Order: sequence, then C-alpha cells, then structure tokens
Amino acid sequence: MTKEQTALDVACEQLCIAAEKLGLEPEIHEMLKYPKRSLIVSITVKMDDGGLGVFSGCRVQHWDARGPFKGGIRYHPNVTLSEVTALAMWMTWKCAVVDIPYGGAKGGVCCNPKKMSKGELERLTRRYTSLLLDFIGPYRDVPAPDVYTDAQTMAWIMDTYSQFKGYSVPECVTGKPISIGGSEGREEATSLGVVICAREAAKRIGLKLKGATLAVQGFGNVGWNAAKMAHDMGWKIVAVSDSVGGIYNPKGLDPRKVYEHKSKTGSVVNYKGCKKITNEELLETKCDILVPAALENQITKANADRIKAKIVAEGANGPTTPHADKALYEKGITLVPDILANAGGVTASYFEWVQNLTREHWTLEEVNRKLEIKMVKAFNDVCNLAKKENSDMRTAALMLGVGRVADAIRTLGLWP
Ligand code: NAD
Repeated sequence: MTKEQTALDVACEQLCIAAEKLGLEPEIHEMLKYPKRSLIVSITVKMDDGGLGVFSGCRVQHWDARGPFKGGIRYHPNVTLSEVTALAMWMTWKCAVVDIPYGGAKGGVCCNPKKMSKGELERLTRRYTSLLLDFIGPYRDVPAPDVYTDAQTMAWIMDTYSQFKGYSVPECVTGKPISIGGSEGREEATSLGVVICAREAAKRIGLKLKGATLAVQGFGNVGWNAAKMAHDMGWKIVAVSDSVGGIYNPKGLDPRKVYEHKSKTGSVVNYKGCKKITNEELLETKCDILVPAALENQITKANADRIKAKIVAEGANGPTTPHADKALYEKGITLVPDILANAGGVTASYFEWVQNLTREHWTLEEVNRKLEIKMVKAFNDVCNLAKKENSDMRTAALMLGVGRVADAIRTLGLWP
C-alpha cells in the first residue's frame, strides 16, 4: 500500500477544497483546521502475566458548534494522534451532512487487541475511561465503537462512567448492548447506510441491483454486515478481505458461511472454493460496487487508475485520497464519500442517545424507517449540490458539512 499522504493531510486538503468552493472566511477556515481540544493519556494496565502494560491513548474533540462531541474509539497498533485528529474532523462534517445535532470527536488507544485477553481489554477500557471522565458525558462528548472496539467495550465505558457518577448513565455512550440501553439496529446501522447509499447511487446511474457484483474490503462490523445485507437483497458478493488477505469467487460467496469460517479460523482467507487475493487485488476486482470497509488511504494515486467498480461506497473513513478522488471522477466512477456513506452509524447512535435520554425503546422497524429517511435525504442533498456545483459527491458533501458547521459558528459568535 502506498502511503502518499497521512489521513490528517487528506482531511486538511479536503477542508481547503470545501473552504475555497464555499468562499469561507479565512478565520473560520483557520478555526476548523484544528481541534478545539486534544487530550493525550497514558493508560497503565495490569496484564495477565502480572506485569504492567503502558499504552498511549487520546481523545480529540474537533468542533461542537452544532451539539455535543460524538465519535468512535479505535483500538489499533497504528493509532496516532494525527490519525485520530483526522477522524474527529471527519466526524464533525459527517454529523452535519446527516443533520444531527452533534460535533465531531474521536478516540484511540495504541494497542493490539488481537494479542490481549478479554480481562486485559476490560482493564484497559476502564482505565482509559477514568482518564477521560472530565471530558466525556451525555451533554459533552459521547463515544461509540470503531475499529476493534464493540458493544462490550461500550458496556465497560458505561459502567465505569456510571460507577463514578453513582447512578446509571446509559446516554454517556452509544453502540451498547441492547440489554443495557443499546438501540435496535445500531450494530448494522453503518452497513445499512452504506447499502442504502449504494442503492441510491445505482438508481442514479441506471445500474440494475439484482445480481450486481460487490467486493468488500474489511470483514468487521461494517464490511460483514454490508455483505450480509447486500446478499439478502440479491447482490452477488464476489470478493471479501480482512487484515490477513482476501478471497475471490466470481460465482458469488455466502457471507454468513464466510463469517462462520472467519469465526473458526480468525480470517476469511482459505475459505473453500475461492481464489486467494491480496487486499490490493481486492480493490482492483472487476465488480459493480466496491465497499472499502477497513482503514484509511487504500485508494490512492498508486491504484486509482486500476479501480474497475462503477460505484465506490465508502464504509471506512478516509479510504480514498484527494488525488484518487479526482482520478475516479474523471473515470466516471460514482464515489459516495465516507461522511455520507457511513453516516448511518452515527445516525443510529443519535437515535440511541435520544432513546436513552427519553427512557424509550424503539422497535427495529422504527429505527430503520427513521434511518432510511435520514440517509436518503442526505444522499439527495449531496447529489443535488454536486449537480448544482458540477462537482464530485465528496466535494458536495464537504461543502454541505463544512457549510453547516460554519453557519453554526457564525450564529454562536465568539466568546470571550
Ligand atoms: P472492525 O474492527 O469491526 O473491522 C475492521 C476490519 O478491517 C476487520 O475485518 C479487519 O480484519 C480489517 N482490516 C484491518 N486492517 C486491514 C488492512 N490493512 N487491510 C484490510 N482489512 C483490514 O471495524 P469497523 O467498525 O467495521 O470499522 C471499519 C471502518 O469503518 C473504519 O474505517 C471505521 O472508522 C469505519 N466506520 C465504522 C463505523 C461503526 O459503526 N463501526 C461507523 C462509521 C465508520
């Protein structure tokens, strides 16, 4: 994989593009380049072997002009403050694109969860939460899952926060298990949003979805659920991958069976009847729809020319660099950008927060119906703006997101 730019370089370049198109005041552009607050923590954890592990972590709060900070927590060996800052910035625009009352934040801990026991992960999560206590909370900053964190991680965060407060505070975090206030549909919501966007994009370019071929990079929460839903809708999954590698079968894969195989062996690789491919080859697979659902900087200057999909729906955050955006646009590929395509997750998180604050529990049908309305509205808003501006969808989505945040900043004014 060629790393032509860091995620933060990409995020800042995207902000410049939007600022120029919007004619944004230089002062507001300058304000939005940096997070309002970044907290760096050192997390000491009792390890199973009796020793102490020291892990570096952070929480970056980008902008909260439209509402409390909101964003996931990532556990990964390559987490850096710079990467988390980019992810926080994208959260700010994303919440504005789907028009939910949040600002953007992100957290990260540099660790390798695959090499840690459940007990070690629990102690890490609780200690990390205790270090963030003064900076998070239902009206301040509401974390959620991201790469290598899940509903269980959120349950530990809720419990730690609640223990400190002395009462139960389910609204302090989203993406929780349903038994403790999680929302129906939250786990699949990001993927449902991706699938809805791919469906709407297909309608616009006249692509028939029955039998449409799909390749998915990353077979975690977002990738696996997207593959499952697409399969149920009659799309053909021809390739999937994870951190170990990928598999390809032009006759189609049953994602549930691949998931079972991954649960047993730890990877999708070596699933029966498939050709082994690399993650690079997966991106270049001949298919109608490509869903990158792993990490940043996957479609770059180095491989953009070889992408064959008609639609790219970004499940991951930041998988495509600005150079590659331009190349795909020139090739006539419809790219549905991350801040729109994967916004279903934060939208359902918002629904979860609202349910917690009002002590309600909505049905799955209600959650999915509201999600469909939000996603289709945001998709159409972005498409209409792209048409008006004669631009790609990324530029339009950024203009919409950055424009709404700038509006809020102007309206609030500056104090002191
Ligand atoms: P996850 O931890 O559930 O899954 C990550 C997947 O990516 C795993 O299958 C892993 O094997 C794979 N992977 C890791 N490194 C890889 C590599 N170098 N090449 C190929 N595959 C690799 O994480 P997730 O929650 O599914 O998140 C995936 C992406 O979606 C991230 O970019 C995340 O920020 C974004 N996202 C997630 C959510 C959410 O609700 N979980 C919401 C919006 C965006």
